[in-house]
Amino acid sequence: LPTACHDQLKGRTLIVGSTGFIGRFIAEASLNSGRPTYLLARSGLQYPSKAKTIKSLIDRGAIVLHGSINDQDFMEKLLKDYKIEVVISAVGGENILDQVTLIHAIKAVGTVKRFLPSEFGHDIDRADPVEPGLTMYKEKREVRRLIKESGIPYTYICCNSVAAWPYHDNTHPSEVLPPLDRFQIYGNGTTKAYFVAGADIGKFTLKTIEDKRTINKSVHFRPSCNYLNINELASLWEKKIKRTLPRITISEHDLLSAAKENLIPQSIVASFTHDIFIKGCQINYAVEGPDNVEVSSLYPDIPFKTIDECFDDFVIKLIEHSPPLENAVKVVQNAGVDDGIATSNPLVDVRPITATYA
Ligand code: NDP
Repeated sequence: LPTACHDQLKGRTLIVGSTGFIGRFIAEASLNSGRPTYLLARSGLQYPSKAKTIKSLIDRGAIVLHGSINDQDFMEKLLKDYKIEVVISAVGGENILDQVTLIHAIKAVGTVKRFLPSEFGHDIDRADPVEPGLTMYKEKREVRRLIKESGIPYTYICCNSVAAWPYHDNTHPSEVLPPLDRFQIYGNGTTKAYFVAGADIGKFTLKTIEDKRTINKSVHFRPSCNYLNINELASLWEKKIKRTLPRITISEHDLLSAAKENLIPQSIVASFTHDIFIKGCQINYAVEGPDNVEVSSLYPDIPFKTIDECFDDFVIKLIEHSPPLENAVKVVQNAGVDDGIATSNPLVDVRPITATYA
């Protein structure tokens, strides 16, 4: 292991998965908060975008340690040598059970004051998606049970949907522009959901980690300013691009069929989309009881970025990537954003999509 560079002991935070979609937001927020920030990165970064992410985080003061959470001896040594107090994991959907070894290491070392496992979506003990999404939730539930049994202080972040157009076949929707040709509306389009900007997921996650009020609790992100249904989302985007787009209905049956196809990861996303926009899994329960807390009640003075502001950012990206707007529409359509798959997204590197989402 490389030599530790930070003298400060307090708040030493290890982030697992910072080259990923959610993990990067967490790593940036940790650096913004001024904490000594350690990033665990697996060796051999295959994609230029991942190497670039790591470099930009190092430039901002992060310390990168190479290895995998699968290796218990390595993890124990790392946690001890760097006197890590907080571990935040944002491993992707296909690696949820890798956290079992990490939990064993945290338990053996016994000095970690807070562990945040890779959640960052729905309350997985309440939501009940169809397969193949259910399998991922079962794995996340297994991780929760093991954390409790191990007696490790934890916080579960239930941040709901990332602020973006909720494509039913794309795991990282905020990397894709909202539609420019037609909207796909789920069911009658009236079931509401909560949308949270990626940077706010990072910012509020970091607020919770040293907050006594969030020990052994699920923290639910329900910003009232970002409580919208998909019809409202479509109208908002139409206002931004100053055009009206046709709306096509994607029925409950269509979503269930897409889930049944069992294409990974698209079918996983279809099953979550069904759970959110047909069954209302984000809104069909009250945040109450001793194990649950709503983030705005903890930090009432800290505002959330609005979905309106997030859509403004998409307009800026649209203009930056292909001015004028008419050309951008053509570029995006030709590039297949219409298909909603990140591999054809003109805004990010071409790389395979992974099975993740809430
Ligand atoms: P990604 O697939 O984008 O990134 C996963 C990260 O974890 C990568 O950095 C990867 O490293 C790292 N990783 C995986 N396995 C290991 C390991 N064994 N040791 C060390 N590092 C490892 O994940 P996402 O950001 O999509 O998902 C993270 C969490 O967020 C998941 O729980 C997911 O369900 C949730 N999510 C929620 C969304 C929402 O809308 N609320 C949207 C998307 C995800 P490497 O670079 O080496 O591959």
